[in-house]
Amino acid sequence: PPAHEGILRRQSLRESAARTYARSLPIVPVRARGLTIEGADGRRYLDCLSGAGTLALGHNHPVVLEAIRSVLDSGAPLHVLDLATPVKDAFVTELFATLPPELADHGRIQFCGPAGTDAVEAAFKLVRTATGRDGLAAFTGAYHGMTAGALAASGGAQDTSVTRLPYPYAYRCPFGTGGEQGAELAARWTANVLDDDKSGVARPAGMILEPVQGEGGVIPAPDSWLRRMREITAARGIPLIVDEVQTGVGRTGAFWAVGHSGMVPDVLVLSKAIGGSLPLAVIVYREELDAWRPGAHAGTFRGNQLAMAAGAATLAYVRENDLARRAGELGARMTSRLDALAAEHGCIGDVRGRGLMLGLELVDPDTAPDPSGARPAAPALAAAVQRECLDRGLIVELGGRHGSVVRLLPPLTITDEQADAVLDRLADALAAGAR
Ligand code: PMP
Repeated sequence: PPAHEGILRRQSLRESAARTYARSLPIVPVRARGLTIEGADGRRYLDCLSGAGTLALGHNHPVVLEAIRSVLDSGAPLHVLDLATPVKDAFVTELFATLPPELADHGRIQFCGPAGTDAVEAAFKLVRTATGRDGLAAFTGAYHGMTAGALAASGGAQDTSVTRLPYPYAYRCPFGTGGEQGAELAARWTANVLDDDKSGVARPAGMILEPVQGEGGVIPAPDSWLRRMREITAARGIPLIVDEVQTGVGRTGAFWAVGHSGMVPDVLVLSKAIGGSLPLAVIVYREELDAWRPGAHAGTFRGNQLAMAAGAATLAYVRENDLARRAGELGARMTSRLDALAAEHGCIGDVRGRGLMLGLELVDPDTAPDPSGARPAAPALAAAVQRECLDRGLIVELGGRHGSVVRLLPPLTITDEQADAVLDRLADALAAGAR
């Protein structure tokens, strides 16, 4: 249809060559509800990208729409910088009700701006101010955002202020052995590097990690490893920053992914789903770190009233309906079916994830595995599978260090029948793509 074609043509002419999702997903969404997106060409898609993990309740959930409408209809101001409002008060109250007690009882919140990367920058600044130190420790394959500091801490960056540490990636374990054992070797490596008297690496101002690496290819860290990172940083006086921008709000089967391991970070970085599909990012941190002077951190867009209302409604809905538990249970069922697909297709090297954050690492089945058992990544095949999925009305995302991981991030409200439909389409797409 002309509208669809024309919009795509103008986009490719006028938008930056850096445009990302639009390249692999040439659709023009005009309507959406729950898991479903409808394009300007009238085609319908099951959306397992969910705004890169933002839409905990799917598109246009009635409670989210109602929350936004009630602010609009109330005559409340939409922009008030960071002033106190009833809308903000309700958001903070709801957010704190979901936090681990250590942070709920003795935590501070700082509103950081619209994007996850803004909150990451604020976290770095906070720990630098609190410790008087400068460097940071971050992990291979990490993704924290696209602004200077967050980018420097992300995988692939070569930045001398960042000490790069091994993430426990079981399938491509740098220590030749996956599982808990490989994770323990990775933890010991980290402990040694952070013993500054032995390694000569200056003690960093903070360590940042994702409990499940998302963009890095859906790599869940074992709980034992997360607890080890807590011990290692605590013993050395290094604040631990946990980036839950993607794992938060029930996605992994716990309200916050740190809940699985029981470890409590010093700083929690939150964005995406906390804004109920609108832009919002905050950090929550132990009050001992609050070394900021008044005005030390600012920004015009830290008080998005609509995002706070949509976010509070989302947090409350996830909590009241125990959608975290639902995500854990459905994720486990979906994983069994993905495991069965892996037994059928040699090109699925690894099935992994936690809750409704799932990934299939596609590999070249005709090349012998390396000593750790991993085969070479197959990014071209992953791109082909993504196209085949789109042809079958299924939107999936790619990720991973080589772009070879097919990722599923459905809304937590996805029904069993919809999950089956997603997996049916994915199975067909794999069969077609692998041919
Ligand atoms: N941290 C993590 C773990 C993320 O997944 C992302 C976004 N994918 C970010 C930070 C950056 O968030 P934003 O794109 O909103 O800046």
